[in-house]
Amino acid sequence: MDQKPLKNVLGAVAALARGDLVGLPTETVYGLGADATNADAVAKIFAAKGRPHFNPLISHVVSLEAAEALGVFSPLARKLAKAFWPGPLSLVVARQPDCAVCDLACAGLDTIALRVPSHPLMQQVLHAFGKPVAAPSANVSGRPSPTTASHVLEEFGDTLTLVLDGGPSLVGLESAVVAVTGDQATLLRLGGLSREALEAVTGPLLAPDASAKAAPASPGMVLRHYSPRAPVRLNGSSASSGEVMIGFGPDFDGADFNLSPAGDVVEAAAQLFAVLRAADALNPSAIVIAAIPETGLGEAIADRLRRAADP
Ligand code: AMP
Ligand code: MG
Repeated sequence: MDQKPLKNVLGAVAALARGDLVGLPTETVYGLGADATNADAVAKIFAAKGRPHFNPLISHVVSLEAAEALGVFSPLARKLAKAFWPGPLSLVVARQPDCAVCDLACAGLDTIALRVPSHPLMQQVLHAFGKPVAAPSANVSGRPSPTTASHVLEEFGDTLTLVLDGGPSLVGLESAVVAVTGDQATLLRLGGLSREALEAVTGPLLAPDASAKAAPASPGMVLRHYSPRAPVRLNGSSASSGEVMIGFGPDFDGADFNLSPAGDVVEAAAQLFAVLRAADALNPSAIVIAAIPETGLGEAIADRLRRAADP
């Protein structure tokens, strides 16, 4: 493996297509990128970052048109995109019904965070790859975000096929994150854009709590996590009639679903949200989930399952 940063757009694209992780330059901070449509590749992001929980990732696309294939843009969302894209703004909108981004990248939510970055090398990668790229900041959880290619190599030199060197990140702050439902815009995170700049386009931005209180049942509650409708029972070994069994490992050959027949937590993470949805769609009286070891990504899986089991 070549550990030197390379200005190698086609190498980065080939690595993304193989399902590998790539260090990518953006104007905000460097990203740890993977094919957003490939759940196995996205699971590698969570494994590398070592977060104890899953959070939804930003999908990077080449244009507003590419973004509209994945998310539903109201006139206000489109106005924000036209004002700030390409640039340091991520928009959280409802997912299109046929959204190609995998459930894991959206942490199982019905919303998706989208951004068109302006960095020329990142633009070239997105153009040549032709698919969305999931890319959180390329730092181990709890460490500062990287703004040069060598920072990324310090963090993830062993895990990455390649780091594309695009020079120092010009903004150096994460993107601002704004959720838009209809004509309501909620500021989820301040970042590389000021509140004033955003509000010049949107008018006063809502705070996440205010919008949740004002309309508790509305999709404005963008931070609420996906949970199945059916009750969830953890650490089960078998399902009764009417229940559905989600197994893990070789002991669960005959189960309705198996998160990883081989007992691999990274594979289980890749399948988790899609399998929960599929199990819930069967309208079972309960979803029974086998014990999963809490090592590596198993910790984030356990965190998510505990919250699914406690409505
Ligand atoms: P990072 O990828 O490290 O820049 O962080 C992504 C940010 O976007 C986090 O603050 C997430 O919570 C937020 N985010 C991404 N997707 C969503 C979503 N569907 N709903 C709400 N927040 C989101
Ligand atoms: Mg980050």
